[in-house]
Amino acid sequence: MQGQMMQQPLLISNLIVHAERHHAGREVVSRRVEGDIHRSTYKELASRSRRMANALAALGVGFGDRVATLAWNGYRHMELYYAVSGSGAVLHTVNPRLHPDQIVYIADHAEDKVLCFDMTFLPLIQAVARRTRTIKHFVAMTDRAHMPAPEVAATIPNLLCYEDLVAAQDDRFEWPNFDENTASSLCYTSGTTGNPKGVLYSHRSTLLHTFAIVMPDALSCSERDVILPVVPMFHVNAWGLPYAGCMTGAKMVFPGPGLDGKSLYELFESEGVTLSAGVPTVWQGLLAHVEANNLKFSTMKRTVIGGSACPPAMIRAFGEKLGVHVLHAWGMTEMSPLGTCCTFKAKHAGLGQEERYAVMAKQGRVVYGVDMKIVDDQGAEMAWGSETSGDLYVRGPWIIGSYFKDEGGNPLIDGWFPTGDVARIDADGYMQITDRSKDVIKSGGEWIGSIDLENIAMAHPAVAMAACIAAKHPKWDERPLLVVVKKPGAQVTREELLAFFEGKIAKWWTPDDVTFVEAIPLGATGKMQKNKLREQFKDYHLPTA
Ligand code: AMP
Repeated sequence: MQGQMMQQPLLISNLIVHAERHHAGREVVSRRVEGDIHRSTYKELASRSRRMANALAALGVGFGDRVATLAWNGYRHMELYYAVSGSGAVLHTVNPRLHPDQIVYIADHAEDKVLCFDMTFLPLIQAVARRTRTIKHFVAMTDRAHMPAPEVAATIPNLLCYEDLVAAQDDRFEWPNFDENTASSLCYTSGTTGNPKGVLYSHRSTLLHTFAIVMPDALSCSERDVILPVVPMFHVNAWGLPYAGCMTGAKMVFPGPGLDGKSLYELFESEGVTLSAGVPTVWQGLLAHVEANNLKFSTMKRTVIGGSACPPAMIRAFGEKLGVHVLHAWGMTEMSPLGTCCTFKAKHAGLGQEERYAVMAKQGRVVYGVDMKIVDDQGAEMAWGSETSGDLYVRGPWIIGSYFKDEGGNPLIDGWFPTGDVARIDADGYMQITDRSKDVIKSGGEWIGSIDLENIAMAHPAVAMAACIAAKHPKWDERPLLVVVKKPGAQVTREELLAFFEGKIAKWWTPDDVTFVEAIPLGATGKMQKNKLREQFKDYHLPTA
């Protein structure tokens, strides 16, 4: 027997319809590339999204066509989130930090028809525009007054002005109804080997993911929140926050290109931000600014940190000095991205502060909808609650089934997606990432978790950034080498750092050596590129060798 409830597809357009109807006056505030602060509302955003949907149709963008963006977090980018996906086309958010060759590759691979860009990226567009094969129109996301001079404009084929397009259209547009499994957006993974692969989200997966992330045991978003996503809208849809904004009616604040500590702090304070999200490297800049100037947050209550392991020292700095609760979260492009979030259970209520910090350092427990397990080398499921790590597998309705254009064949193993992360899961279901499978250090056949070592090093007051990589060893095969960037003006020796590990880990986990560098290479989403470090130190001679 069939249920007899309404059949209503889960569509992204429904989010903006809801926001306009129920939260019309709630604000959307953006720091613009033009330099000023722009104020808008959900009502205006909805109206302009419809105008943009009309404009895209007029440009010949059809159902399923790909529209790319190369843009910061801002209201125009959010309008495109709804205009493009809402009209049945696919939003392809491109990471501007990629190498131009890679941008050309993914634009061609995605067969983008239109590319909308912030003026910051004009030189990048000039470099790639004539090399891409399928893009018919380039849209500068600005007004007429800020368009490039005619001689510059002439270097880009079919250059259009975003505000001209919006102004020329009527705001009446009927969002089409279609199957919720239709593709809505496309992100390419920042894969470290081979060409980037596309992850193609659907309206259904996006809506279910949005329901999941706003739940109390996830990011706990409500209308009363003021959300500032520092995580870029080109990094897995800013972890879903532009959708969560419309679903809950929270005020949205977009930082545009101003990602330095000072600009972010000003915006947090002036707009009364309550919730933010980003990768650890961004928070380092903000923390440094706040500490150096002896500042406090007046409204910020919690921040989501993920994308790479959040060092416990950072969780502590936020909590103890600034009264900001860190929500440690883990996910992947292939997971829309949220998989786990570290919130407490009832049983933790009586814990002391130190024990609470120990829980918060873990990547957390699954949000409902995601299932996870760890498996051993033979693929057999391992029990929870032991100290042993295994390969982390996940499944769920917002987790990848296959890559765009079926690149790489079937990525699943018995219906589970192998994440490439190495983790352990405690008896309460809290998962802790100990490594990426390719970053793991294998010493005498045993695994050493590089993240644990990095977290300890990061807690040293003189350390700005630390990466632990495997260096070749004649006896043990591999031994840990700690690569360190010192804080400006700080002094610390190799011996002092090695002594800092004493008592914190098993003795044989202690790195065999420390090397100081000016900088650690970061990837397009702010993660340490350990593959580059491994390459740089491939002939490193350990003193123990
Ligand atoms: P991406 O698809 O670029 O977002 O990268 C996903 C990968 O980032 C994961 O597979 C993890 O290796 C890493 N990652 C994400 N969040 C965390 C976290 N909280 N702790 C440790 N690693 C993380």
